[in-house]
Formats: sequence, structure tokens, C-alpha cells
Amino acid sequence: MAKVMAVNCGSSSLKFKLYEMPEEKVITSGIVERIGHEDAIFQIKVGDNKLKEIVNVKDHGVAVQLVMDAMIKHHIIEDIHEIKATGHRVVQGGPYFSESTPFNEDTYKKIESLIPLAPLHNQAHLVGYDAFKKVLPNTPAIAVFDTAFHQTMGPEDYSYPIKKEYAEKYMIRRYGAHGTSHKYLTEIGHELLGNKENKRLIICHLGSGASITATRDGKCVATSMGLTPLGGIMMNTRTGDMDPSVYYQIQKMSGKSYEEIFQEFNKQSGLYGVSGTSNDSRDVEDAANGGNKDAQLALDLWARRIADFIGQYYVRLGGCDMIIFSAGIGENSPESRDMIIDRCKEALGIELDAEKNKCRGVLREISTPESKIKVYVIPTDEEVMIARDAYKLIKE
Ligand code: AMP
Repeated sequence: MAKVMAVNCGSSSLKFKLYEMPEEKVITSGIVERIGHEDAIFQIKVGDNKLKEIVNVKDHGVAVQLVMDAMIKHHIIEDIHEIKATGHRVVQGGPYFSESTPFNEDTYKKIESLIPLAPLHNQAHLVGYDAFKKVLPNTPAIAVFDTAFHQTMGPEDYSYPIKKEYAEKYMIRRYGAHGTSHKYLTEIGHELLGNKENKRLIICHLGSGASITATRDGKCVATSMGLTPLGGIMMNTRTGDMDPSVYYQIQKMSGKSYEEIFQEFNKQSGLYGVSGTSNDSRDVEDAANGGNKDAQLALDLWARRIADFIGQYYVRLGGCDMIIFSAGIGENSPESRDMIIDRCKEALGIELDAEKNKCRGVLREISTPESKIKVYVIPTDEEVMIARDAYKLIKE
């Protein structure tokens, strides 16, 4: 038995989950938000209670110490050295990492070199790693990449039709994202299908960030997110794929800088931009139900773009054995699942069971026995995948 911590560091946050492995029992979890502020928010689960404090957290180092002190104070652990490994989520692994990798000088440098491809994320992951290294200098750490699962894509699926020089010099290609979630869901999907060969899955990870992945035999064949998380399907605040000249035209007409428009495409577009209401899909659904036409268009466009990707991946895989819905919207919004399937069911012979599709947040088959493709809701769990890989590291 060993305690292993899954860590997700953002530029001003630190999320953690401590597991007892190999049982995968969650011992505690929590978050430090607003790092860098005097009124940072620290939350930690102690038994069934969630404790919350407002504290001065000047940097990630203070945040890590805060988490360790709280775990000792509440007797979650008696000594920080009970933590035998940490697993750190890393958003961008570029072309270098096709699996989780122990942190060492080389790993660190490669993650650092990829900062231009994921400026906010990779930088923050390294700051987080450094902070843990200070507090737990001899505890093995492992980097778990969001992009690793997608490294099995072939050039036909990951290349962009741009000048070769750009692709090579600037490492411009599709890397994808949410790989840890897609891998987890693929594994569960295969178990549900009896672990048989030649199975083809279309996985819809629909959270505020969202992506769709096509897998065959448990490996990624194609994924919707691109060079950055801006690509692919329409999301809560991101555009997803568009004619690249939209960028050019808006820049020319508005006089705004490319940087400003890039931020708008990431943070003020998608469901939010089209509906003009909110970046939370629940609010957009409420607005549409109240007769807001822009909100209705936003939802229709969202569902259409997802259904189009499902159709594209059905062709890419030469068929499909299972469609999986997951993440915040995929797990919790029957209406959204219905809207998506409605737009591809005729061509693909899919039948949803309306009663079963009412489920929220649980693993459930939601298609009828007659449906040509099985459709499942499967709650995702990225943290347990991080803990599994970190535990593997100390066992080897
Ligand atoms: P995630 O990024 O996976 O945490 O997902 C966040 C998104 O899930 C937000 O847009 C939420 O509106 C959406 N979401 C969470 N709970 C529900 C719910 N009960 N019904 C519909 N959408 C939900």
C-alpha cells in the first residue's frame, strides 16, 4: 500500500487528490484557489466534511505547504513522507511524450520548451512541480500528459495543410487534449464491450472544454482538439474549428490585435458568444427554454457541430461499436445528449431510450437494445489515471 497524490496546478490554483494505492481509495481531496492573493481560498475534505479557509497564499510554494500542514493537522497523514509519489497533470507534451514520464532534467526541459504551445498551462505545471520539489525533494514525481494518448494518431490525422517549413520549424500539428480522460473512458468502454478486439469507440468529453476522440483497439485514431484547445467542436467559450479567414477578417475590420482576438475566440465565443448569455451551459439551456432565440441557436449550433464530428469519426473508423458521453455536460445533461443524437441517429441507426437518458452523473447504457450503436454515459476520472501512473512509477 502507498499514498500517491494526483496534482493539477494552474496559474493561480492547485487541485489535489490523495489516494491509497493500489486500492484507489480517495483519502482526501481539495483545492487552493486565488494563489498570489491575500484572500486565497483553501478547501480540503476531512472525512465527510469539506473545510474552507480564506488565507494569504503568496505563491505555489506556500500553497503546497498549506496542503501538507492541513493533512497533518487533521491526521490524514502523520508525516509528509507517507506520500510516496506525486503525479502532475501536464497539458502539453508536444511530440515528445506518448506516455507518463518521471520528472527529471530532460522531462523538465521538454515541458519548458513547449510553453509557447500552452503558455498558461505548461508554465503553471512547472511552477507547481518546483513547489512540490521543495517540500518533498526526494519523493518521485511523474508528469502525466493530456496529449500522450493522442500520440498514436498518424500523419494523415495530425497534420495541417500548411507549408512544411512551418509544421517542422514551429511544431505545428494537432496534439489534442483531454487524453487522460479519453484513455480512461476507452478502457471502461472496452470492459463494457467484453474486451474484444477491433472495437471502435467515439468518445465525447463534453465539459466546458470539450473534445471528441475516435479510438480503435483502445488507441486514438483521431481527435477533435488541435494545436491548442481552441480547435475542434464548439465549446462553452471557445469557437472550435472555423475558416481561418474569420480571424483575418475580424482583425481587419475591428482593428483589434491578433492577441485580443485570440483571447476572444478562447474566452468569449462558443455558447457564450453566440447566446450572449453565460459561459455555463445550464444558463444557456434556461435562456433557450425561456424563448431566447440566440440561446437556442447557440445550442443548435453546438449540437450540430458535435453530431458532424460523430459522423466524421464513424466514417473514419469504418463504423462504431459505442458512443460515450462524459464530463460536466455529457454526464449531466440529458437534453444535450438528446439534441446531439437527434442530429445523427437517422444515418447511424441510433436509438436512445428516453427513460434511461434521464440519468445524470452515473454509468449507464442509454441506448435501446435495437440501437445499431451502443450509447453510454460514463463519468470520467482523470485523477485516478494520474494516481495509477504515479503508483506504477514507484513499483517499477
Ligand atoms: P467540466 O468542465 O467537465 O467540469 O464541465 C463544466 C460544464 O458542465 C459547465 O458548462 C456546466 O454547465 C456543465 N454542467 C455541470 N453540471 C450540469 C448539469 N447538471 N446539467 C447541465 N450541465 C451541467
